Amino acid sequence: MNFTRRHFNKTLLKGAGGTALLANMPLACGMTNAQEKKKLGIALVGLGSYSTYQLAPALQDTSYCYLAGIVTGTPAKEEVWASKYNLPNSNIYNYQNFDNIKANDAIDVVYVVLPNSMHADFCIRAAKAGKHVICEKPMAVSVAECDAIIDACKTAGVKLGMGYRLHSEPYTQEIKRFVSEKTFGDIHYITADAAYYSAGNPNQWRLNKSLSGGGALVNMGVYAIQSLIYGTGENPISVCAQEYSTRPDYFKDTDETITAQFEFKSGVVGTMMTSHNVRANRLYASCERGWFELDPASTYIPLAGRTSQGELDFKQESQQKLQMDDFAKHILQDSPNLAPGEMGKRDMIIVEAIYKSIAEGGKKQVMNFDSKFGFGG
Ligand code: NAD
Repeated sequence: MNFTRRHFNKTLLKGAGGTALLANMPLACGMTNAQEKKKLGIALVGLGSYSTYQLAPALQDTSYCYLAGIVTGTPAKEEVWASKYNLPNSNIYNYQNFDNIKANDAIDVVYVVLPNSMHADFCIRAAKAGKHVICEKPMAVSVAECDAIIDACKTAGVKLGMGYRLHSEPYTQEIKRFVSEKTFGDIHYITADAAYYSAGNPNQWRLNKSLSGGGALVNMGVYAIQSLIYGTGENPISVCAQEYSTRPDYFKDTDETITAQFEFKSGVVGTMMTSHNVRANRLYASCERGWFELDPASTYIPLAGRTSQGELDFKQESQQKLQMDDFAKHILQDSPNLAPGEMGKRDMIIVEAIYKSIAEGGKKQVMNFDSKFGFGG
């Protein structure tokens, strides 16, 4: 059997098929056990604040993956990161030579942490290089780009996950349990706010639509959308939305504050608010037999929550650590993908419906999600 180590790794790492193959295969090529690669090498693309202060530190504590490489457009960062994280030169790329990563077996997963309008390009290039992909939120700046990312990953046979860290986080998981077990009976009303006050550099990419794809809605609004969906266990069937602007001199190009009202098939009514001009971070659901709440609901740490039965109290760990380990386990052990690309696309369909409703003066937009999008966020 002509089966090289590189071929073996690629087969194994591209899914459960590798594990099944191994179960029936005599150990060859000096392999010592079926799951030879226990930790996957991750390369971070874009070394801005999220990579620097959250993802790279979290990757020092992960059990199933580690920081193996970087991709940066800023040459000065190469040496700083190489020495801080002991990265070999061979695992450092820039935006131009990034595609050479294809030949690098030390990198299994590419994590795209760039401004939103660059997600699609780098996710697609990563997939074409045969690497599994984690894409930061929002997935892209249009549904069409989400489709292109999903298609590229399918064609390449690589896994695709969203950087939706909350799905690996215990308070969020508890809310999902309340919903699936109907702990408080049917949900009648749900509301979610996700907002912060922005007063920094007016030229930052988040305020530039060509780089961000939108304002508060594509940034914090995605968390509010997610909260409404995992907090009901349903995808919405319609939305009406409104936009408010109080600081047009600062928010010249992107939305400042948006409110939206949702209908769900079961009859749940939902509302959300997102803003770059307000401080708020909350999920609240009123149910048949009580209520549940997270406040804050989507900050890094610490989340807090309570219900009509009392306080919630879970161990606080790095959400990014839990998230990246869950994605690595999805690849290595075929465990569920907690935040697949289809979920990122679903959220972008809702984002586009909200913008369309605003453009049409608040007109109701109907959405039809079939089962491939899953429920519950
Ligand atoms: P940031 O501004 O701190 O970093 C952006 C990085 O992209 C920088 O390294 C910058 O050099 C690089 N870059 C390349 N081309 C650029 C260009 N044309 N303009 C500006 N920067 C450019 O941003 P961030 O906060 O690290 O966000 C990056 C991505 O991560 C975004 O998609 C954001 O939504 C996402 N994010 C997710 C979370 C989360 O909790 N999941 C938190 C923060 C950010």
